[in-house]
Formats: sequence, C-alpha cells, structure tokens
Amino acid sequence: MLTRRNLFKSVVTFGLSALAPWLDRPALSAVENVRQRCEPAGADPPTELQRHLLELEYLENLKDDLDCAEVVARFGPSLKRGPWMDADPLRRIGHCPFCGEVGLHVGPESFRCKWCEAEGSAIEFHSRVHGISHGAAAARLDALLNDGPLRGRRCENEHAARILEDAQGFYQDLLREKPEGAIARQCLAEQGVTQSTIERFRLGYAPPEPDDLLSRHLIAAGYVVPKLLQRLHVNEDGEQRMVDRYGGGNLLIPICDSEGRSWGFVKKPITSPQSSLSVGWTEDTLSVSERRLRRLIFPHPAWPEDFNRHQRLLVAETPWEVVALHNAGIENVVCLFDSATDPVRLRTLLAFGWDFACAFDAKGGRPATAFRFVERLEGEMRRLFVMEVPSRGGLLALLQSGGHQAVQDAMTQAIPFHQWMGE
Ligand SMILES: [Zn+2]
Repeated sequence: MLTRRNLFKSVVTFGLSALAPWLDRPALSAVENVRQRCEPAGADPPTELQRHLLELEYLENLKDDLDCAEVVARFGPSLKRGPWMDADPLRRIGHCPFCGEVGLHVGPESFRCKWCEAEGSAIEFHSRVHGISHGAAAARLDALLNDGPLRGRRCENEHAARILEDAQGFYQDLLREKPEGAIARQCLAEQGVTQSTIERFRLGYAPPEPDDLLSRHLIAAGYVVPKLLQRLHVNEDGEQRMVDRYGGGNLLIPICDSEGRSWGFVKKPITSPQSSLSVGWTEDTLSVSERRLRRLIFPHPAWPEDFNRHQRLLVAETPWEVVALHNAGIENVVCLFDSATDPVRLRTLLAFGWDFACAFDAKGGRPATAFRFVERLEGEMRRLFVMEVPSRGGLLALLQSGGHQAVQDAMTQAIPFHQWMGE
C-alpha cells in the first residue's frame, strides 16, 4: 500500500539517484548539528518527513554556496583549465585522487572522473577524500565557508539576490504608481487583476525605455555597475550600449525561492492595454545558482509550513494561469515552469500537495503536463487526476466563462488518471 512515508521515501530516492547519497541517515543526523537556516519557525517539532525535506534543502543550499572546483583544488589535486569550450560546466581538469589517472573534470557544481566514474558535488568529494561520512563532510565544509577559509559562491549568490530584490522593488513601483507603468496598469485592469494580486505576486513592469532607468536607479542605490542586470543592445547604426536586461515593455513576475528571494522573472511584452496575457511568457533567471533554480515551482512553497499544504493541487501550464486563478480566489494551483519532469522540481511539488490535477483538452491543444510527469512518477500515478478544459483557451477560458465556481467544480470532478486512461 502506498503510504505517505514510502511515497516520500521513493520521491527522495528518485530525486537522489543522480545527485547524492541523501538517504544516508547517519550522515543526515550529523548534518542536523549545523543546520540553522532551515530550522522550522513553528513551535511544533517537525515530523520525520518534514525533517527529511529540510535536510535535503539544507544540503542543496550548501551545495549552491560551495564552489566544487575550490574544494577540489584545496583538498585534492591541482587543477588546470581544460582544453574545451567555456560552455562546458566541468571545465577544469586534474589527477583523480581516487584512481590516480588524469581525467578528473571539475566545475563549480560538481566533479566527475572519466576513468573511475567517481562523481558528485563538493560534499561527496570531501567525504571521499577524507574518508568521512557525507554529513560530517557537509558540516565541515559549512564551517569552512562560515569561518572564511573557503570563499565559495555565497557572496555571489547573496549579491545576485540583493540586486534582484532592488530591481524587483523598482519594477513594482513603476507598475504601481509611475507614469511609465500606465500601460501595464491598464492591461491588468482590463484582465480584472486586483491590487492585492499585484501585491501578492509582486508584479512589476520594465518599460521599453531608451535609457537604462534600472541601472541609474541601482547606481544611485550604491551599486557600481549592475552588469548582472544589463544586456548589450546594438541599434540600427551599429552603436552598442548596455541596457536593462528585463527592459522592453515587459510585465514581470518574480521567480522566488522558499525564503522569498527572487532569482529572476518570467516576462511578457505588453504592446497595448488590450494585450493578451495568456501566452508569450518567457523565463529569464540568473544562472548563478543552477541547483537552486531546479527546485523552484511557482509560487514556491515556504518550508516547513507549506509541507503537504493542499489536499489537491492544480498543476497549471503557465505562471500567468496561476496568477489569474489566484486572482479568482483559487490558491491551490502551481506551475512547474518549463521542466515538469525534473526530479528535484517534482520533489518540491510532491511535498506541497497530497494529490494533483492536470488540465487536459480533448483536442490536445495544450501541453499535457500530466503525461510528462507520469512518465517520471509512474509509481505515483494514483495521486494524479485529470480535469478537462475547453480546447480553445484551456483553464483561462474556463475561468472566464464560468468563474471561480467552474474551475472549482472541474477540479473536484477531475477523474483519476488511470481511470481516464481507461484502465
Ligand atoms: Zn578516477
């Protein structure tokens, strides 16, 4: 029988298979001694499952903050730049300390030996080189980051989060009250989006500006050159200059993690107050922390309070569907961005709700998220329900024609995936 316990274990195993020995219980309990940032806020002690999740989050945050190449160079062999392109994330090479051959490829996120198949993150490397448990290695590396001997990527990550926070406040002010934001305000008003939804999702607007208003704002706020948030623009005369990375008349929705820090935006150009917001959204995140981005869903839950928060979660196809449904009072809806099958992302999803509904239209006009994640979660198929939506316009059309109640009814009446498949 499928219980929550073995479900979560299977999810953990599943997310883990490619990445790390996360189920090593003694290692996890050793980690607990140094885990501070992930302590639950509530007075109640966390359940065992919540504890698992917090530990996994802690380890992944730590891997985000470590630079694997720095850990390898400090505790292992010396490295030199590999002969391949910069696009290769494992771009440095050295002697493998485990088999002695030259063929250890190392990047900021991970290492891999082409001869003996040793591979993993900075934590696995440290653990193997020193013959200590995974948890002890994590604790030691965390202490080295905190005390200074390791530089890691924490400063970069914090800088990116801080500058995005400032940018997001700037875009939000533009949308709320500045003359440049009028077109976006009108567009949202046309769609019936309320002020509280705008506040809830911290929506913003980046105008189609000739000048880089954002950079001027950030420089006034004390940043030297906000390169992270600029891109090169070449005009018709071939003149080059740096402009706002998110500029171009875009409505912006921040992509945030469980601590509320933003890592980029989904954006959609608005050309008139009547612009449709149903399609045309693209994701634009900073790549400083790829591992963190893999975990994010929208909106992202806060741990541990959102653990198993929803009995049924609707998996929408776009962030805008999520915003529109929340605006109509339906809060048990999320979206998985472009990668509905990433195991780490699915782990976040499975910890957020008990069962899941995917919208499907009979003519197949919508991407069928249900099919994509059933491929990945075959064992969990019984938690998946399918609701049918109009072929033209999908969930948003259903919302428009029948309002809140029509969507709620469709979610309630969703049928189990296996029954829907005719099994
Ligand atoms: Zn090797």
